[in-house]
This record gives sequence, structure tokens and C-alpha cells, in this order.
Amino acid sequence: RTVFLNGDFVPFEEARIPVMDRGFLFADGIYEVAAIIDGKLVDEVAHLARLDRSLRAIEIANPYTSEEWIALMRELAARDEVREGLVYIEVTRGVAERDFPFPPEGTPPTVVMFTQAKRILGAPAAEKGVAVITVPDLRWKRRDIKSVALLAQVLAKQEAARAGVSEAWMVEDGHVTEGGSSTAFIITPDDRLVTRPLSNAVLPGITRIAVMQLAREMQLTIEERLFTVEEALCAREAFYTSASAIVMPVVTIDGKAIGDGSPGPMTKRLREVYLALARDGALA
Ligand code: PLP
Repeated sequence: RTVFLNGDFVPFEEARIPVMDRGFLFADGIYEVAAIIDGKLVDEVAHLARLDRSLRAIEIANPYTSEEWIALMRELAARDEVREGLVYIEVTRGVAERDFPFPPEGTPPTVVMFTQAKRILGAPAAEKGVAVITVPDLRWKRRDIKSVALLAQVLAKQEAARAGVSEAWMVEDGHVTEGGSSTAFIITPDDRLVTRPLSNAVLPGITRIAVMQLAREMQLTIEERLFTVEEALCAREAFYTSASAIVMPVVTIDGKAIGDGSPGPMTKRLREVYLALARDGALA
């Protein structure tokens, strides 16, 4: 396994980050995750556009062009021989003596990239559907930035793991914001696909955009609006999306069955169509 670290491909065991890295000291950095399916990157252009947006939001110059990033990601996936899995990218504000304001101009960012082999297509959880719990959303007010400051999500997802479920849906003022690492969707009893609108309250999911486009093509009515936990509990179907989970059917929320307690037909269709497009390389 290889790590791309500050311009070099190095063996995993030899990749090291200094203690004074601002990512370590301040979580002063951002990240991005894209899927690899059948050896092909999925929706990489959109993921790199979000990477650029996250970098701009925290005033780090993007070290590479989109074309350069794509070449590096492909090279890494090829070196690691990953046919199915994830590419993780992290960029921090670099290494400097510990002090809150930005380090001196010219301090190079730290750039890290690695792959993780992972089953995506035939993930057994997707066949049966998964359980989620709801937890309070304890995060900061710029959740639209894909920041590596993930302590609230670590705690939320640990609570989910302890409860033996797959994801934690975070709740603020009675409304579901999103999953710990995914976008939350419900389908109402009158067949409307509902997800929260984009704002500072949620991360703009790349899978979310693609799935909404597919839903539009399937003539589903889409409502971007807030929804409560109570409404989710009464939904006909529920699912969450992310680069790694793709479209994951949710069959219970806080122990209560959604619909008939098995993956819903629209959810299954959205997953199948998305995966077919990804395999064809049609989501590049
Ligand atoms: N929301 C949060 C908080 C996330 O961390 C993620 C992904 O990790 C998502 C949503 C889904 O985003 P994407 O579909 O781009 O993976």
C-alpha cells in the first residue's frame, strides 16, 4: 500500500506527519473522499470541485489543478491495485510552530492521499437495509466545509456503533440535519423524496446531487426542505447517501421499522441505477 505525501508516493509504513502539523494540532485542514468502482473513480470532478470549495473557504491555496489531482488519484489507485474502494485526500495548513493564526506565507500545505479497499457493489448491508439511531447534532456552524474537525461525528458514530447500528442521524431543533457521514433522505407516504436543502447546516453531498438527478429522471417529486424525526419515523422509505455507502436503505430508525421494515422499491432502484452508471464510468 502506498501513501501520496507532499508530492511523493511512499510506502505506507514510511509515511510520517510532523507533530507540529496544523491538521494534528488544530484540525486545520479539509478532506475529500471519492469511490472507486470497477477500477474507475466515481464522480471525481464533482469531488474535486468540492475539495476546491473547502480549501477556498479556509483560505488554503489548492496545490493542484483538477487534472493533476485526477492523475494522482489514478496513479495511486493503480499502484495499490484497488478495483473497489475509496480514495481519501487530506490537505492541512502545513507544519509550523504552534500558534493559532495562519503560519508565515509560503508555508506549504500538507497533502496526503491514500486508498482503502472496500466492498461497495455487493455490500451485504445494502441487501437487507440498515438501522440508524438519532443523536443531537453537536457540530459547528460551517458544516458545508468538509473539515477534518470531526469530533462530533466521531462521538455520534461511536454511539451508533455501540448501539449496533450503521449510522447516526443528527438532529437539530427537532429536524434531521444529516448522517454522521452521509446525507439523509426520506420518501413520504405520498411519494415525495425529501432531503434537507443545502446551507451551512449540512455538507453538500456529491452522491446527493447525483441521486436527486436520477430521482428527477424517474419523475419522483423532490422536496428540499427540513423534516422532523417524527416525519422520518412515518416515512414510506428512508435511505442515506455517501461516496462509500452509495444509496443505503434504512429499515429502522431508533428501533422503529420504516415502511414494512425492508428496503423500499424506490431506494433499491436509485441504488441500482446509480451503480450501473458508476460502473459504466458515466458519473465521471
Ligand atoms: N454529510 C456528511 C456530514 C458527510 O461526512 C458525508 C460524507 O462523508 C456526506 C454527507 C455525504 O457526502 P458524499 O456523498 O459527497 O460522500
